[in-house]
Amino acid sequence: MSGRSTAFDLTGDVALVTGSSRGIGKTIAFGLAEAGASVVLNGRNEDALEQTRVEFEDHFGSDRVHVAGFDVTSPDAAAAGVANIERTVGPLDILVNNAGVQHRVPMLELDPADWDRVLSTNLTSAFLVGREAARQMIPRGRGKIINILSVQADLARPTIAPYIASKGGLRNLTRAMTAEWAAHGLQINGLAPGYIHTEMTQNLVDDEQFNSWILGRTPAARWGKTEDLVGPAVWLASRASDFVNGQTIFIDGGMSVVV
Ligand code: NDP
Repeated sequence: MSGRSTAFDLTGDVALVTGSSRGIGKTIAFGLAEAGASVVLNGRNEDALEQTRVEFEDHFGSDRVHVAGFDVTSPDAAAAGVANIERTVGPLDILVNNAGVQHRVPMLELDPADWDRVLSTNLTSAFLVGREAARQMIPRGRGKIINILSVQADLARPTIAPYIASKGGLRNLTRAMTAEWAAHGLQINGLAPGYIHTEMTQNLVDDEQFNSWILGRTPAARWGKTEDLVGPAVWLASRASDFVNGQTIFIDGGMSVVV
């Protein structure tokens, strides 16, 4: 017996959520903190991070809220960031690779620099930060890595080729991490959100035609809320998922199972 109240209790765990100054990452970080974890917020914009930190501190106190502002696309920054968390906050138990960007343009007009930027933010970052975290977790024989994918890991649409490629790659990176690290006590899984109303999708919500397409295309007949990701994230971060390895769970109101 661990002394924790339920298999979903994260008391005493340290969780880094990349891209948690706003949007899905912020809500997941909040949910992990509500489940008992100490959370480390990440992003590049320091003012946005500070604002989120203050908000979290009001709820959870300063001991359980920390900031590690670094660019997840930089190998050096990822290494220094994880090392600093281990030194100043404590052993990292949970990593959520959430930071991501979108870029909408037809493929024939796509600038290779934008292709690289999307791939490095959405895919390479998970390799870089994930590997640094795993280097710490493996000797301890435990750790949870949650990669945030998208229904676009499986489904394509015009004008977002690098995003689709990055999320499909991240689904398979989740499997590759499992193949190499599961025997060391780590569980690595993916959450694939459908269309969630955030800053990233505000322009789509405002587009009447797209909005009504989403409502008709989604069996649940609504946009997702960032809160819809919290239960699945807490589950994958907790002991309740100790034999769940390499899976992708779609949180999409049923969108990916209907035509
Ligand atoms: P937002 O644009 O609202 O937030 C993105 C976060 O990532 C911000 O905190 C941003 O902070 C951070 N970020 C971006 N680039 C970097 C970087 N290089 N280094 C560190 N942090 C970075 O996005 P969402 O909340 O909408 O999306 C979060 C994740 O969920 C993404 O992976 C996205 O692909 C995925 N997703 C979103 C869906 C949706 O409908 N919204 C649907 C399916 C998946 P800063 O800019 O200051 O660095």
